[in-house]
Amino acid sequence: MSRDMMPHFELYQPDTVENAIDLAKRIGEGAWIMAGGQDSLDWFKDRAKRPRAVIEITGIQGLSGIRETAEGLEIGALTTLTEIENSALVREKYSLLSTAAGRVASPQIRNIGTLGGNLCQDARCWYYRSGVNCYRAGGNSCYADTPQGLNREHCLFGASRCVAVSPSDMGTASVALDAQMVIRGPDGERVVPAEEFFIGPATDIRRMTVLKPAEILTAVRYPKTWAGAKFYFEKVADRNTWDFALVSVASALRLEGGTIREARVVCGGVECVPRRLKAVEQLLVGSPQSDEVGRLAGTTAVRGATTLNFNHFKVPLMENLVRRAIRDA
Ligand SMILES: Cc1cc2nc3c(=O)[nH]c(=O)nc-3n(C[C@H](O)[C@H](O)[C@H](O)COP(=O)(O)OP(=O)(O)OC[C@H]3O[C@@H](n4cnc5c(N)ncnc54)[C@H](O)[C@@H]3O)c2cc1C
Repeated sequence: MSRDMMPHFELYQPDTVENAIDLAKRIGEGAWIMAGGQDSLDWFKDRAKRPRAVIEITGIQGLSGIRETAEGLEIGALTTLTEIENSALVREKYSLLSTAAGRVASPQIRNIGTLGGNLCQDARCWYYRSGVNCYRAGGNSCYADTPQGLNREHCLFGASRCVAVSPSDMGTASVALDAQMVIRGPDGERVVPAEEFFIGPATDIRRMTVLKPAEILTAVRYPKTWAGAKFYFEKVADRNTWDFALVSVASALRLEGGTIREARVVCGGVECVPRRLKAVEQLLVGSPQSDEVGRLAGTTAVRGATTLNFNHFKVPLMENLVRRAIRDA
């Protein structure tokens, strides 16, 4: 499918958020916000998406950088994944984020790819990305959920016509850290918890996030409640670099005298959104941090999983990753 040349589009390079929003609003449906382009350019080259106008936001001042605030940490949406991976502040207090950032794609992609782009990237289903007319693309079939469908990467939970999963490693870590997403649009600013930012196909099959047309994610806030907690991030993929999670896990634990007092456990690669495991979290509070509790957490995590023809392996994988995320945090 990949061609040498992208189809023609108009290119706009605004230098303020207001101008970017105004442009997106005026252009309407044919507008495409682009940051590092690591997801966007694939779509254009494969000609599966053909925006009329690309609004490149990397020239906007003030949308990048990592700042410690009274409430915790604020990371601008244009901050690159490499900057997050290498930040001494992030490594010291929110190492879950630096570890997750360091597991995204390859060094080259992390040097250009941004936090905002990672969180807002579209689904990675083979069929959808190759331009077939599936449900998510506006058609009336799911090609992955068929007897011969290539679905070993697809979901265990939350299928609703579409069975694609959330590909964002930073999404998994951000939900585990109770992040708040700062969004600006034609109606002003709103702040949405990370857990509500990602949406599944039952809510809207054409979108992965709550972002409405002409809205821009400007920053992500990580509350200090989790600063310096015990963290764990692990991602299993077919290759150790340049590859998406088959299943990943992020955990944040607060302990008092060996007893877990607070917990967040989130899995990636198993649902169209980062899957927060609330039943597991409830089970953990008041329990010791042990392999036995981790094993129980793993069993609880996979309850209700519905497999497709080729992704049964994800069930024991998820179970074991959750177990380790408790035991080894
Ligand atoms: C070979 C390869 C391997 C990869 N492996 C991984 C992986 O292992 N894990 C992983 O998580 N990701 C992976 N990715 C995805 C990659 O991390 C993301 O594509 C990258 O972080 C996107 O950042 P970007 O700034 O380049 O996004 P862009 O391509 O610029 O944007 C991506 C999407 O987000 C939207 N967008 C971008 N910024 C904003 C904003 N501020 N507000 C609103 N919308 C916005 C764009 O409209 C677009 O739809 C991989 C990509 C490739 C090509």
